[in-house]
Amino acid sequence: MIAASSPREPILVVGAGPAGATAARALAAAGVRVRLLDRAAFPRNKPCGGGISMRALRRFPYLELALPRIATHTVARLHLEGPGGESTLIESDGPAALLVRRVEFDALLVSLALEAGAELVSGADIVQAAEDAHGVTLTARDGRRFQAPIVIAADGVHSVIARRLGLNRGWPTSSVALDMMEETPRAELRDLDPSTLWVAYGYEPSIEDCGMRSADSSESPIRNPQSSIRNSQARQGYAYIFPKRDHVNVGIGYVLSHYREAIDQSPYELQRGFVSRLRDRGIVSGESNRSHFTPFLIPVGGPLRQPGRGRVLLTGDAGGFVNGVTAEGIYYAMVSGDLAARAVLERAPVSTLARRYRRACDYEIGAELRDSVLLQRFLFADRRRIARIIGGAHRERQVTQWILDFAVGRQSYRTLRRRLLARSPMLLGRLWWERLAKRKALPAAGATVTI
Ligand SMILES: Cc1cc2nc3c(=O)[nH]c(=O)nc-3n(C[C@H](O)[C@H](O)[C@H](O)COP(=O)(O)OP(=O)(O)OC[C@H]3O[C@@H](n4cnc5c(N)ncnc54)[C@H](O)[C@@H]3O)c2cc1C
Repeated sequence: MIAASSPREPILVVGAGPAGATAARALAAAGVRVRLLDRAAFPRNKPCGGGISMRALRRFPYLELALPRIATHTVARLHLEGPGGESTLIESDGPAALLVRRVEFDALLVSLALEAGAELVSGADIVQAAEDAHGVTLTARDGRRFQAPIVIAADGVHSVIARRLGLNRGWPTSSVALDMMEETPRAELRDLDPSTLWVAYGYEPSIEDCGMRSADSSESPIRNPQSSIRNSQARQGYAYIFPKRDHVNVGIGYVLSHYREAIDQSPYELQRGFVSRLRDRGIVSGESNRSHFTPFLIPVGGPLRQPGRGRVLLTGDAGGFVNGVTAEGIYYAMVSGDLAARAVLERAPVSTLARRYRRACDYEIGAELRDSVLLQRFLFADRRRIARIIGGAHRERQVTQWILDFAVGRQSYRTLRRRLLARSPMLLGRLWWERLAKRKALPAAGATVTI
């Protein structure tokens, strides 16, 4: 009944990214036998901007001691830009974001799990999963079989475990973003201000540069009669420059359904046009390098309603734990991995495992992830809203400070939300309206990305 305490069969964690490595470390540190399976050998790369809000260090205090083993960079300034060119600079009184290279950060997290006593099996590409009353059986591509009383699935956005067990048949194309990004050494491409995160929301490059079908709007710099988006709608995407110590990440991302409907160019053509536009504006110098370019999907439609069933818990991208506005996933992957491990460690019947895990996720990160999806849809629905929020950052210094306090871990999301709603009661009505609209606009069956 209490699978976690079984000395015979280890708990299996599939995927050794931030979610899996965190879960494995937490289980091993509590004295539980845990085997971490990954199809890759570490260090391995993961397409990612590598930006982590500083609150991760408060949530996982052991990171602070470990981070000096890898190259890190911190920033205290955020340049935020809207689709009409409006911009604002937000400054924090201390580091607000930590920047890492995933190839190094993930290997570090795996080392921490191994140091705590977890076992790593690399080259285990899981292709099948089956669950019965006694446990879970996983089969690898090379025929190896692994059995366990409990499986924590941390196998990313294309989770095979979620698919094989019928927990997620595929993300709707409106619930994933295609993030097109390169991580290039500073010697080849450099941003001119490495002390600042540069983020554009609803990013709308010119049609000449990027071959996009434009919004047919008098406010838009471009007109196109074949436009597939309405007048005031924003591009459903973002663009960013994340400085690292020795590299720079430059990327542009769009909700996949929007990319397919409204953008004609291939991912790398889009990226090259974006970099060249940044260069023209004097924001970067140097060249884009295709060999460092890695487009990849991010689930941005909010967590699955059931991020687990029976003996299997889905964590990180596999469960959809990503912020819909910022596309931040590392922090939520680590939190969900940790909560999955804690649910396993509770000495309670396995029949309650998935429910306890879902409740724990809901309590700690549910509200912010749900709100982020509503806010994302609210902002993309009208580009003037993005402009208003960016403009408001100048005037609403108190609100900006609260958001920064949340990002660095000085205040919880619950407190931030309460304060925002007290200051702007209309916001509550708007969030409810978006929630209703979201329910009505649920994608038709079959409008999914195969995972
Ligand atoms: C281009 C891009 C930029 C991003 N930028 C940021 C950012 O700046 N900040 C941020 O917080 N988030 C960012 N994200 C999101 C972030 O990368 C993810 O949310 C995060 O990596 C999720 O961690 P995870 O552990 O769930 O999954 P992953 O990091 O994807 O790890 C999954 C692991 O599972 C293994 N695996 C997969 N399938 C199998 C299988 N069948 N068998 C065995 N092993 C398997 C993989 O090899 C991998 O090691 C970005 C995403 C993208 C695509």
